[in-house]
Amino acid sequence: MIDYKRLIRTIPDHPKPGILFRDITTLLGDPVGFRAAVADLVDRYREQEVAMVAGIEARGFILGGAMAERLGAGFLPIRKKGKLPFETIGHDYELEYGTDRVEIHRDAVSAGQRVLLVDDLIATGGTAVAGLTLLRKLGAQVLEACFIIELPELGGRRRLQDAGCPVHTLISYEGH
Ligand code: AMP
Repeated sequence: MIDYKRLIRTIPDHPKPGILFRDITTLLGDPVGFRAAVADLVDRYREQEVAMVAGIEARGFILGGAMAERLGAGFLPIRKKGKLPFETIGHDYELEYGTDRVEIHRDAVSAGQRVLLVDDLIATGGTAVAGLTLLRKLGAQVLEACFIIELPELGGRRRLQDAGCPVHTLISYEGH
C-alpha cells in the first residue's frame, strides 16, 4: 500500500493566506506513486462498463486521461470558460468571492452513456457539482465522482451525495 501523503506536498498560504494547498505534482512525478494512484482509482471501476471518463481542468485531465486509457473508455474534458473550440454548454457556480464557469462540448457525451467524473481533490464540491450538472444536462448517467484527496470539513462529499452522485476518494486531510 502506497503512503500517498508522503508523496503529496503541502504548500501553506497558496494561493492565498490560510489555504493549505495539496500539491499532487510530487505524486505525479513519482513513477510508482503515479501508477499506484491511477491503479487504485481504476480498480473499483473495472467491471462497471464505464463509457467515458470526464476530467475536470486541469489536474483531472492527468488522472482522468490515464484512467480512461486503462478502462478502455473515452475521455472528455470539463474546461474553464472559453477554452473549448466547438459549441458548448456551461454552468456557473459560486466561489468564495464571485463566480466561475465550467463548460463541455455539447456533443461530448450522449444520453444514457455511463460516465465517471474525476478530479484530484474535492473541497466544497462546487466544481464537481457544476461538472455533474453539465453531464446530466446532456443525459449522461454519472456513476460516481472520484478524487485522490478529500477535505471532509468543506462538505463536498455531502453536496455530491445530496445531488445523487456517489463519491470515492483515496485519502483525506483534516482542515481546509
Ligand atoms: P471545490 O470546488 O471547492 O471542491 O474545489 C475543488 C477544486 O479546487 C479542485 O479542482 C482542486 O484541485 C482545487 N482545490 C481546492 N482546494 C484545494 C487545496 N487545498 N489544495 C489543492 N487544490 C485545491
